[in-house]
Amino acid sequence: MNRGKLVVVSGASGVGKGTVLKKMMALRPELQFSVSATTRPPRPDETDGVHYFFVTKERFEQMIAQDAFLEYDAHAENYYGTPRDQAEEKLVRGTVLLDIEPKGARQVKDRVPQAVLIFIMPPSMEELERRLRSRGDTPEDQIRIRMERAVWEMDQRRWYDYIVVNDDADRCAEEILQILENLPG
Ligand code: 5GP
Repeated sequence: MNRGKLVVVSGASGVGKGTVLKKMMALRPELQFSVSATTRPPRPDETDGVHYFFVTKERFEQMIAQDAFLEYDAHAENYYGTPRDQAEEKLVRGTVLLDIEPKGARQVKDRVPQAVLIFIMPPSMEELERRLRSRGDTPEDQIRIRMERAVWEMDQRRWYDYIVVNDDADRCAEEILQILENLPG
């Protein structure tokens, strides 16, 4: 029997989701992060098995054929997916956090209706663009693509259970923890 809650957290690239999730897990070490599989190459600060399982396209497609994903999606020219066994094993121990985009979140909601879906918004679209630029490593055409995708993602927040604004990462992390502590049922 599952003991934990499945918690989906989505938000546009640049919204600061990673920082908020880290703060939540520092405050509540019992929260478990579901490590996704992806075909995108690792960034310099990323470790295989910690941030993602970095796999080949062939391996990912083999896993799709084996029905090994709770959800998966192809975006930004790569596959991303939640390995089913991982999420299920962790749920036996407690609450599991999934950092996934809206198409994956939709699949989770359809398959696991009791999952809790949380959408993180930027204070404004201008602030999101400013944050994307301030990373300094994103080419202009990529910024445009991400802003277009952000507009679409923001529209998806309608069907999430909770919407929070990341005006300050500490405050936002606290707000999500409060939501999780006060869930009905
Ligand atoms: P990044 O490449 O910047 O790490 O992630 C890009 C996007 O992929 C983010 O919006 C993130 O939430 C999403 N993502 C990460 N893992 C998964 C996954 O397992 N499934 C889905 N559907 N999206 C994911």
